[in-house]
Amino acid sequence: MTSTDDVATSGCLFCQIVTGEIPADKVAENDDALAFRDLNPQAPTHVLIIPKVHSPTLPELAAEQPAAAVAVLLMAREVAESEGIVDGYRIAFNNGAGAQQTVFHAHAHVLGGREFTWPPG
Ligand code: 5GP
Ligand code: ZN
Repeated sequence: MTSTDDVATSGCLFCQIVTGEIPADKVAENDDALAFRDLNPQAPTHVLIIPKVHSPTLPELAAEQPAAAVAVLLMAREVAESEGIVDGYRIAFNNGAGAQQTVFHAHAHVLGGREFTWPPG
């Protein structure tokens, strides 16, 4: 379900950040997407990029509203540039509880400012 006012979004933490009901440390915003700093950062730069419309995961959003999914990726690049991490940054999408997704509103983690290892944990 993709919408900003449907009952499916009520109680969604990130929908509440979009509406301003819950404050966030915003770093970028446009009509389609919003970027804000993660409350529990896992790197010197750890920014979350979310679509303003609700969808549980980015792949589902891409199927429902491709332009919104592209907007998330474009903002991830914009934030990497403004944070000065374009030489080495990670974009992570946790999809499903088995992958440690805890907030079921699509979001990209943009991480940078430290060395990364591969494979990820
Ligand atoms: P997930 O585990 O779903 O991929 O990522 C959710 C992220 O949201 C976590 O990294 C967590 O630290 C972050 N988070 C949870 N609640 C809040 C909040 O109220 N504000 C902010 N800025 N980040 C949050
Ligand atoms: Zn939501």
